[in-house]
Amino acid sequence: MTPSAAARRELPAFGDRLIGPDDAAYHDARKIYNAMIDRHPGLIARCAGPEEVAQAIAFARAHELPLAVRGGGHNGGGLGTCDDGVVIDLSLLRDVTVDPQARTVRVGGGATWGEVDRATGEHGLATPSGIISTTGVGGLTLGGGLGHLTRKHGLSIDNLLSADVVLANGERVRASAEEHPDLFWALRGGGGNFGVVTSFEFRLHEVGTVVAGPTLWPVELGAEVMAAYCDFIPGAPRELNGFFAYLSVPPGPPFPEELHLRKTCGIVWCYSGAEEDAAGAMAPLLEALPEPLLHGPGPMPHAMLQGAFDGVYPPGQQWYWRADFVNEVPDAALEAHQRFGAAMPTWQSSMHLYPIDGAAHDVGPEDTAWSYRDANFASVFVGVDADPANAGLIRDWTIDYFEALHPYSAGGAYVNMMMDEGQERVRASYRGNYDRLARIKATYDPENAFRINQNIRPA
Ligand SMILES: Cc1cc2nc3c(=O)[nH]c(=O)nc-3n(C[C@H](O)[C@H](O)[C@H](O)COP(=O)(O)OP(=O)(O)OC[C@H]3O[C@@H](n4cnc5c(N)ncnc54)[C@H](O)[C@@H]3O)c2cc1C
Repeated sequence: MTPSAAARRELPAFGDRLIGPDDAAYHDARKIYNAMIDRHPGLIARCAGPEEVAQAIAFARAHELPLAVRGGGHNGGGLGTCDDGVVIDLSLLRDVTVDPQARTVRVGGGATWGEVDRATGEHGLATPSGIISTTGVGGLTLGGGLGHLTRKHGLSIDNLLSADVVLANGERVRASAEEHPDLFWALRGGGGNFGVVTSFEFRLHEVGTVVAGPTLWPVELGAEVMAAYCDFIPGAPRELNGFFAYLSVPPGPPFPEELHLRKTCGIVWCYSGAEEDAAGAMAPLLEALPEPLLHGPGPMPHAMLQGAFDGVYPPGQQWYWRADFVNEVPDAALEAHQRFGAAMPTWQSSMHLYPIDGAAHDVGPEDTAWSYRDANFASVFVGVDADPANAGLIRDWTIDYFEALHPYSAGGAYVNMMMDEGQERVRASYRGNYDRLARIKATYDPENAFRINQNIRPA
């Protein structure tokens, strides 16, 4: 009997929220953000709440089927889906409840960041997330969460107050500093290894209008701009976040037509302090560099900034990822960056160097599972294109770029920006925290039921 036929018999209350290969809804339901990944699950179970999540886990385990958990479906390596097994699809769990007095927000495990940012933005509040509104809260948070507010308010996990989790044995627990503190520690960076989070509670900060946008220079100035940026950002005020990028100018408004599709290097800024102080905070770097092609930062609501890249990166493109943590960028690394940055194979392909200092450094390497608190930057190399015929081109550029720069890295990588790259890479990314994670995994998921992720093997 197929998984979907068995599930219909054993889980009748799900009704048409069980989707199998014979259903008309299957083709759309199995799609994920990265079109390079084409998986065919045996069953997609759209769970309406924690009880159904527990039932779906029990079903997969009883039938010895692979079990994947899908939050926003954005993962580069396609870790929110699988072939032949059961996908627990959390897309119905997307309630967002803001408590403006307590400055907290409770968010369903399948929500996307755009939904959260819009709801909190109505109160002039926000919690740190990523840079694209369609990314899932689930995967981004459990892996760490880097974005425009990192330097001021830390990673997403640094603002996580509690999580409601369905464990591998079906038990439902709340993890926080007071309840199951070991699980709470592991969830903050350890990914989906420990259970299905049906609800997250985050601390909120006052973030209303931010001053944000890019400053862009000709791509030929990449090494000079990156070197100046790396010197400048660690000493900049925490209100100022900015990531370095090699990027092509998007072919549409608000960018001037004469720049469309031009390869550039630049910094994407977000100043989250008093509007009148933004220009002064950026000035030391801008004064040290040649006149840019474009200087675009302006005031905008934080939630608007969060959607600013959405048009450039719609779902359904081909994506190939590599990543590293970085302490410093010596001259030889700058040279390699320039070689590959100037040779981006398609206009959506890019390299970003995110700052992970400031408030992210206030937390120690062993305070959460996210070990690289001493690294200064997270680099990510992404080959992106709409055309599947270019899959090889973007993959080769990404791998070659990564391999040229990896010798200058700190060793591991941000797990959310890796693909499925094997155990050694996972261990390197958790460093000294891996063994503790493996012990906690042995307590909460001894049979490794949750293994479609950057997998931590039970000790
Ligand atoms: C265009 C784009 C932009 C990005 N930008 C950023 C960024 O700015 N900052 C950043 O930090 N990251 C960023 N990322 C990386 C992102 O954090 C990861 O891709 C992350 O895995 C996405 O989470 P998701 O829930 O959408 O993914 P999914 O594919 O649904 O899940 C990813 C992993 O998390 C697990 N998971 C998801 N939800 C839950 C849950 N509720 N409970 C238990 N396990 C769960 C899944 O099982 C899977 O292993 C970006 C990714 C893309 C594609």
